[in-house]
Amino acid sequence: MAIGKFRGMLRGGTPPEPSGGDASEALALLHDYEASGLGWFWASDAEGRITYLSDTVAERHGTTTAALLGQPFHSLFVIQRSEEDSGARTLPLILSARKTFSELAVRAALDETEIWWSISGRPQFDAGGTFTGYRGNGSDVTEALRSQKDASRMAMYDSLTGLANRHRMSKRLEVTLTAYKAAKRSCAVMMIDLDRFKQVNDTLGHPAGDELLKQVAQRLERVIEKTCEIGRLGGDEFQVMLPDIDDRGRLGEIAAKIIAIVSQPYSIDGSRCVIGASVGIAIAPYDGIDSDELIRSADLALYAAKGGGRGQFRFYSRDLHSEAERRRRIEEDLRDALAQDQIRLAYQPIVESTSNKVIGLEAVMRWLHPELGNVSPAIFIPIAEETNLIGSLGEWALRQATADAVQLPGSLRIAVNVSPAQFSNAAFPSTVAQALANSGLPPERLELELTESIFLADDDATDRMFAALKALRVRLALDDFGTGYSSLAYLQRAPFDKIKIDQGFIRGVTEPGSRNNAIIRAIVALAEGLGMDTTAEGIEALDELEMMRQLKVGQIQGFVYAQPVGFDEVTEAMASGSWVIEPNGPSKYRSERKTLLRKVGLIHEDHRYDVMLRNLSRSGALVEGLVDVPAGTEFVMDFGEGQLTVARVRRSSGSVQGLQFETPLVDDGAGGLCTRHRISPYMLAAAGMPLAALPAGEYPLVGGQNGNFSLPKFGTAPEAPKRSIRAA
Ligand code: C2E
Ligand code: MG
Ligand code: MG
Repeated sequence: MAIGKFRGMLRGGTPPEPSGGDASEALALLHDYEASGLGWFWASDAEGRITYLSDTVAERHGTTTAALLGQPFHSLFVIQRSEEDSGARTLPLILSARKTFSELAVRAALDETEIWWSISGRPQFDAGGTFTGYRGNGSDVTEALRSQKDASRMAMYDSLTGLANRHRMSKRLEVTLTAYKAAKRSCAVMMIDLDRFKQVNDTLGHPAGDELLKQVAQRLERVIEKTCEIGRLGGDEFQVMLPDIDDRGRLGEIAAKIIAIVSQPYSIDGSRCVIGASVGIAIAPYDGIDSDELIRSADLALYAAKGGGRGQFRFYSRDLHSEAERRRRIEEDLRDALAQDQIRLAYQPIVESTSNKVIGLEAVMRWLHPELGNVSPAIFIPIAEETNLIGSLGEWALRQATADAVQLPGSLRIAVNVSPAQFSNAAFPSTVAQALANSGLPPERLELELTESIFLADDDATDRMFAALKALRVRLALDDFGTGYSSLAYLQRAPFDKIKIDQGFIRGVTEPGSRNNAIIRAIVALAEGLGMDTTAEGIEALDELEMMRQLKVGQIQGFVYAQPVGFDEVTEAMASGSWVIEPNGPSKYRSERKTLLRKVGLIHEDHRYDVMLRNLSRSGALVEGLVDVPAGTEFVMDFGEGQLTVARVRRSSGSVQGLQFETPLVDDGAGGLCTRHRISPYMLAAAGMPLAALPAGEYPLVGGQNGNFSLPKFGTAPEAPKRSIRAA
């Protein structure tokens, strides 16, 4: 038999009738072929019962051919198991229809092992045209299918974390948003970016970075609901799609939970490390209708969250565009800021709590941008760290601060902030030594402020760096204690001379029920035991100062004594040789209430009045601008950008009203408040506006009946003219 014919048979399905003198050779070849396991043959009768089957199939099925003869052919396969088996589902149908079929993938009816066959068959008819059964062949395609599945899995999933990859996420989002648009459903997207991940990668190495990403993925899967899809877009960027959620209260809670769980310490190859996360949130259809638009909004929100000082979430809002522009400028211009002499050091006194005597100064950087004005170091230092500018900025600060300090009379200490990136640079001790040598400042008078993130790097290098700095006889302070996961164990391991208790710990310490004073008491006791000083940072009010004194905190740094001041002011104050400051500040600490003077709308019937927002809390607001408004009146308050909430007048006096919200406001992630829900673009579309993400400004939610407006109910104070709302 010609090879071509033989191949054709394998493809075409049925063994041809052996013809002429070739018959025995053909049979031998077929037997060889069967024995090779590459393929097998089958035949059935008119009732579909097996009349012939290669031994290899029976063997794979753990039985003998004899036992299978007479069984229905289709019983060898799983007929309906899952969607994947769609081929098998049709097999009995095909057989009963007596149709030719080829290369049908079916799964062997075996519980233990997964075997996939590709089968073909051709119906047979006798001379009279009566159907007599099938003849066909099959082959094992298990491996081929498996690698095909792996390949398609790889195309859809991130091989490192097992999460969906960028491709799958964008596909899913596109499909979901299209379907949701038709069904008028909402869908949120979160972009998550890890803070300080680069640092882990740089100091612990890429394998550690990979391990960290895996652990982050596992944590995300733990806190995010199963109905949401999580993906890794690449690098340290993750994305979550949250179908049917538009409640910003709930989204804020989810984001906060994500940030909290990602910020818990990790253990990687025995090293402990701490990172953070920033989250940007956008919600369809409010912030974008299609996936490109929504992703752009979420990206912008993420950018703002990162710019806001890390560890924060942000909702998209239109204001972010100008904020992003500002940040881009900052990033661009920081490169030249030092050369252009825009950076200065300011000095904040560190005061002995019992005597009010200034015993040290902390140098903090100030950047006066020619157009943007003062840019906070909380903004530009993280940027400098990311863009590798921190080395030169930090070195400059060291040289400047030491040079300034020697000019001061007495033995005032000077504290300089050191970034983890500086600390992990092996050349850092010589930079410090040089600054000391150039200035002539005695090393005991220089204090380096380090944060816990230095413990990220591998233990040996950290220990070596501590030893090298101690050998220079400079002092070391642990800054921002209480912000991250400052474990007390660090204190025992590292040779710190001082702990600086972060203002986050101080806030609320005087409020009844606060447990922070117990913690501060413990820190002070431990520090004392280890021979370290303590400084409380961010003391603003006299009651806080009193509390710190009671808790025996040795030193105070805060506005209650002084804000950071220029070096001229320091020299002036030190002219007499010493500097004593009388504490001065509010008697009690009050959590800052945002006094915003911004315009909001109050909608009543079909009138919209502009009023001034004097005060805002979660549950209500104080507004000014309307007169003669009786208590009990209900308004819809319009904060702009589709944020509407029902508010009832509780108190009314002259042109000032106290309103209570029906639904409390929620955190906007940036220290402000926002409404849980917004007016849906679907509603606006139903009212005749084109379907689009929420545009800026006010929304013609209510309109006069048939264009007829009623008379305004309330008088307006002179500066706040009332306006009628036009019907949509
Ligand atoms: P830090 O090292 O914890 O510095 C203390 C910060 O708290 C300063 O903010 C200071 O102005 C502020 N502060 C002090 N007392 C009070 C108070 O009573 N109330 C309030 N609300 N704040 C108070 P600043 O100057 O904005 O610096 C922010 C952070 O930027 C610093 O936190 C430090 O981490 C970083 N930084 C500043 N200068 C440098 C620098 O030269 N190098 C490095 N690496 N980081 C720097
Ligand atoms: Mg500091
Ligand atoms: Mg601090």
